[in-house]
Amino acid sequence: MDIRKEVIAVTPEVIEIRRDLHKHAETGFKEFRTSKIVKEYLEKLGMDTVSTCAGTGVIATLNDGKPGKRIMILADIDALPMDENSGESFSSVNPGAAHCCGHDAHTAIQLGIAKIMAEHRDEIPGKVTFLFQPNEEDAGAQIMIDEGAIELAKHPDAIIGSHNHPSITYGTFGIQKGFQGASSYYYKITIHGKGGHGGRPHLAVNPADATAFVLFGIKNMLTAERDALKPTVITNCMIHGGEKEITVPETCEMQGSIRCLHREHEAVHARFKEVVESACAMNGCTCEIELKCGNSLLYNDDAMLEIAKSAIEEMKGEGSVITDGMQTMGGDDYAEFLPYMPGVYVNYGTNDPKTGPWQSIHHPGYRFNEDIIPDAMEFQIRTVLKYLEG
Ligand SMILES: [Zn+2]
Ligand SMILES: [Zn+2]
Repeated sequence: MDIRKEVIAVTPEVIEIRRDLHKHAETGFKEFRTSKIVKEYLEKLGMDTVSTCAGTGVIATLNDGKPGKRIMILADIDALPMDENSGESFSSVNPGAAHCCGHDAHTAIQLGIAKIMAEHRDEIPGKVTFLFQPNEEDAGAQIMIDEGAIELAKHPDAIIGSHNHPSITYGTFGIQKGFQGASSYYYKITIHGKGGHGGRPHLAVNPADATAFVLFGIKNMLTAERDALKPTVITNCMIHGGEKEITVPETCEMQGSIRCLHREHEAVHARFKEVVESACAMNGCTCEIELKCGNSLLYNDDAMLEIAKSAIEEMKGEGSVITDGMQTMGGDDYAEFLPYMPGVYVNYGTNDPKTGPWQSIHHPGYRFNEDIIPDAMEFQIRTVLKYLEG
């Protein structure tokens, strides 16, 4: 098959699908319309299997009877719980739901890839799985895995993840060697004190005061105890407590995230709990600490990186792939699949100054640069073929 010809031919349809998904944006685990469109499209292509998983997730398999390896490609399908001001004519008509991370495009691009591969299934030297994941913005991948995604995907040997990247130059691809995205755990601390009169603090126990000690303890732990060459970030983003300036509250809540771009997250979490408990105890308070996994550490397999890099360079030429400086303390729950199979995660640059400005993902003015669509399909098809041929 002439891959370039195929991706150019399917691009208008991909744009049409993505604009429709964009207009009808749906947030995590509520992607009912999106999921139905994806499922029906895949069924029409004559995939070997099309299954739903975790409610709105969809998994399709191709070439199941063929000998050889199986590779999976992943697209996320959820919108963010926010409103957009992108100015696009196809802006979301659903209040509080907007595709400001480009997952509408990821979904449509993967449908385009599925179409091309289904039409040329005989020319593909192995098996392919297409996974459409709900609720990427809040840990949907693990729920898919818990509900049997690996089995429904027929135990792939490798995985490709990708994301559009508005701060990377258009036509450039970023694949970090080694650790690429931090593990991210969300915490909620509930501090219990004893309510009372603001004029008689000695008769109360003030959980609001304790928050200051907790924050200082966390920051001190980061600078005094953590190896600065192994990045760890703890950001407290919410403090709630109290209702009146003359009344000591009973409780206060603190919420934030702990991010580690290294494998020692369990030690960091354990120490975090000790520090928070001690800081609360110093104030006469007790606390409960909840930790929830947002996503695990995202890392690239060396061999998979080389395959993707050479596939992209065949398409875009030498120098089109950056393999350093791509680390981020953000993450993607694509990482939950990595304990099951080696993978590569590709950020494809969409920042074209000629057609910009291009706001960052999660910005209300974010727009997806549709010019990248043919390349976004082509690099994935080439990587799949190169992996299966190898
Ligand atoms: Zn996002
Ligand atoms: Zn995203």
